[in-house]
Amino acid sequence: MNKPVISVVVPMYNEEEVIDVTYEKLTAVMEGTGLPYELIFVNDGSRDATLPKALDICGRDARVKLIDFARNFGHQLAITAGMDHSSGDAVVVIDADLQDPPEVIPEMIAKWQEGYEVVYGKRLKREGDSAFKKATAKVFYRFLNSMTDVSIPVDTGDFRLIDRKVCDALLDVPEHNRYIRGIVSWLGYKSCPVEFERHKRYAGTTKYPLKKMLRFASDAIMSFSYKPLKLATFLGCLTMAAAIIVLIFYAIFGALNPVSSLLIALMFVAGLVLLCLGIVGEYIARICDEVRDRPLYLVRGTVNFPEEE
Ligand code: UDP
Ligand code: MG
Repeated sequence: MNKPVISVVVPMYNEEEVIDVTYEKLTAVMEGTGLPYELIFVNDGSRDATLPKALDICGRDARVKLIDFARNFGHQLAITAGMDHSSGDAVVVIDADLQDPPEVIPEMIAKWQEGYEVVYGKRLKREGDSAFKKATAKVFYRFLNSMTDVSIPVDTGDFRLIDRKVCDALLDVPEHNRYIRGIVSWLGYKSCPVEFERHKRYAGTTKYPLKKMLRFASDAIMSFSYKPLKLATFLGCLTMAAAIIVLIFYAIFGALNPVSSLLIALMFVAGLVLLCLGIVGEYIARICDEVRDRPLYLVRGTVNFPEEE
């Protein structure tokens, strides 16, 4: 078999309803490009029939490779593993639920052949997502840009094509709490967008409940910004200044009820201290993760890769 030119990485967590259709659509699109390719399915600890279905596809089609995780490690690590095991000259990352249309891949490949090293998908519309998801995403991407020191393109997800150079560079970044699209922006390289409309999920429900979204958002902010830490200092200064002003106010007028105002002041300061501690704690937790240096993910087995690990 020819060495693949394009590797397509597809993270999957409980995607039994979509895996067959996704396979068919991706195959049709990739065959249309005429380039040798591989599809890398990463089963991120699914509890449904994703694994047997994936194994079945691998049995029929040697261009489909499978990485089976020992448990659910999350979307970003599933992508990382797929990239780790990829051998193409370019790597495309795409969601399994067909919200990222595979038809856009040939456009991405064309841009790559023009010389771009990162071609990212930019969502024009998000017809498929709930109003809540749309609103939070909109606020989040803009907030993130104001908080971080690297400029991360707004309205882009992980649907993108990256050159082998970028993929190798990305894999050299050993961070555990990975926010991949942020790291790609941080790396630099020559990039350009390809616009697309984000459709509805083909089937099934989102695998990103609010809890995972919040975790994802805080990873994004904490890995690219020290502003929350600075905010803690700023708030501290502000409260102290406020306290001094209140003190002067008291000294001059002395008319307020001292007990209630003392209580309010105490509560305010206690809240502030806890807030600052919390922010510091978030960073310390991530330092712990890095210092422990546990493996990013654990693979139970792989299928169809040339050298079976
Ligand atoms: N996913 C994953 N591990 C997880 C959660 C999600 O591999 O723990 C995959 C999922 O199968 C899908 C992609 O990540 O291919 C995006 O997830 P989803 O479509 O549920 O997120 P949404 O589009 O709702 O943000
Ligand atoms: Mg989705």
